Amino acid sequence: MQIRFHCPTDTCVAIIEYEPLENCGDTMECPRCHTKHHMHITDAMRNEQSLDQCAVCSGGELFVRKDFPQKIGFFIVVVFGIAAIYYFNTSVLTSWAILASAMLLDLAIYFFIGKVTTCYACRAEYRKCAPNDAHEGFDLATSEKY
Ligand SMILES: [Zn+2]
Ligand SMILES: [Zn+2]
Repeated sequence: MQIRFHCPTDTCVAIIEYEPLENCGDTMECPRCHTKHHMHITDAMRNEQSLDQCAVCSGGELFVRKDFPQKIGFFIVVVFGIAAIYYFNTSVLTSWAILASAMLLDLAIYFFIGKVTTCYACRAEYRKCAPNDAHEGFDLATSEKY
């Protein structure tokens, strides 16, 4: 399991990457501001590498999304959409081909890109962890609570 989070110290901008191992302790020191943070590492995280709560803020609400920058995903949709509209008047076939390749690209992303679990409260990201069925996709209503 790999945890990536912003240093909880307000004045610090460090992004910390941390891997809780079987024998890891409960604190981790920020490499930038050297503040020691208490980590909420559970036995499930240590032993099974599965995530049952956020290790940074101990929040229990997390969501799963594709480990792919959303801005790039949005960019692809926009570019392919505009191209398809552009060709629609001159060549409908080209237009369909563009849409089909956008779909194929989307499928490729779906199959080849891993998932990242994110904490609603503190936005800590978790990779390389065992899937937890309790975590669902992003939910705006849940997100607005924070
Ligand atoms: Zn720091
Ligand atoms: Zn959190």
